[in-house]
Amino acid sequence: MKLIASLCELRNLARSTSRASFVLGVLFFAVLLGCVPTVGGWDVDALHLELPALGNGTPNRIGDLTPYPALVGDALALVVCRFEEAKVVRVQVEGDDWPGEWSHRALEAMAFDGVRLELASAGDANSVENGPLIRVQSIAGPDASGPVGLGDTLAECDVSSTIAQDARASSPSRVTGVLRDVTIRLRRRLRQQTGKIFEASEAEWGAAFLHELAHGLGFAGHVATGESVVQREQSGLRWIGRNVVEGRRIPTPNLDALYLIPNGYVVGEANIDASAAELLKAVIHLVAERTERVGPPVGPRAIAGDREARLAWRWPGGLAIALRFPDWSGELKRKESITVEPSPATRLLLEHRRRDENL
Ligand SMILES: [Zn+2]
Repeated sequence: MKLIASLCELRNLARSTSRASFVLGVLFFAVLLGCVPTVGGWDVDALHLELPALGNGTPNRIGDLTPYPALVGDALALVVCRFEEAKVVRVQVEGDDWPGEWSHRALEAMAFDGVRLELASAGDANSVENGPLIRVQSIAGPDASGPVGLGDTLAECDVSSTIAQDARASSPSRVTGVLRDVTIRLRRRLRQQTGKIFEASEAEWGAAFLHELAHGLGFAGHVATGESVVQREQSGLRWIGRNVVEGRRIPTPNLDALYLIPNGYVVGEANIDASAAELLKAVIHLVAERTERVGPPVGPRAIAGDREARLAWRWPGGLAIALRFPDWSGELKRKESITVEPSPATRLLLEHRRRDENL
């Protein structure tokens, strides 16, 4: 482990030298030994400097996290989102496509204590007013519409502005950054491309459940390397399933690190070109106008999926203003300008406004 860490340090040193062969040699050994660059597309070294408690060099892969989008002033900020700590988060399983004890055993196996996870039945806890909640919807039958694989997660984050100062952070946390609405869709049976029905074992189901649960706790994206509940490879998730079934605790270094970062922590700013900046300004204006006319919206709320991200302001009666970032995680990773698109309804509102201004 020490050898790997020292080679990672060498790689950093190599960046500042002009000796190409030395750089290539060190990079070769670094990759060989698992020193894989982070894929989140933001400056993880700066975060480690600001929050030494994260433990630079530990295998938490926090730099692989896909941050949520938020507007800070007229900049497109990259923020961390999760539940508030020291909270009980109820996990409410709806449907009965798998034995009840599977959910119990899987939850018991996860050695995560950033928040306390408690199973709640649909009957006794069906309201978000009772506190933070993760809904797990069981998708019945292999052909019912739902996730492409065994599961998917929609985790909505409150990215409204706040003036609160976080004492642990060197910079003020200007975004709420608290998860509000989290829904996991899980199935046990799946129709494969061959037409055959695949029925997940407890181990396979448990691995899928804990993987989605980690997304639902705020870890968007996947880690590029290492044994983790948020790795993408199905084969790599098998060890999770084995641990669930054999009653062993599963370490969660990625989630532990996430819950050391204050809610709404701004880890960077997305690159946007002039036309995207123009669009953001127009939308900010639209939101302000509507707020003046009909009152404050719910939100903005953000989601960060496998590929795209969204930002939405919603008013009672179904009115919404929304932005879409169709290649959010990819463009961040490649350090490209972020593509920004209004939702179809928002595009119409913007066109109306432009026409009114020209009259
Ligand atoms: Zn995933």
